[in-house]
Amino acid sequence: MKRSPMPPRRSELKQGKPLERKTPLRAGGNLERRVPLKSRSKKQEAKYRLRRVLVAELLAERPVCERCQAARSTDVHEPRMRSRGADITDPKQCVCLCRDCHNWVHANPAAATADGWLIASWDREAAS
Ligand SMILES: [Zn+2]
Repeated sequence: MKRSPMPPRRSELKQGKPLERKTPLRAGGNLERRVPLKSRSKKQEAKYRLRRVLVAELLAERPVCERCQAARSTDVHEPRMRSRGADITDPKQCVCLCRDCHNWVHANPAAATADGWLIASWDREAAS
């Protein structure tokens, strides 16, 4: 594409004040945080406190793995995963599994979803 030439300036460019720095950053300055980030917010902390109680209760209530019906349950699994929006403090969202079964569920998501051990995030009916 051919452009038309710029029209000539009507007045000369004027030189103003030199540029000023508006932030305290300096070259070679220390950018490290002085206070480390909290790993969890207070709200999240409270939620996980409830979760620990719930996990202890559920494992005592259902001592046998709900998948293989053989091994001792050690893990509380959420079929609708936390990453898919599960409420980790809702006992209806929890299944007690042994470590091997829990590993299997997360290693084979397609088969686990077909068997009902996982719920897809878009599957609203299976969740309720
Ligand atoms: Zn099992």
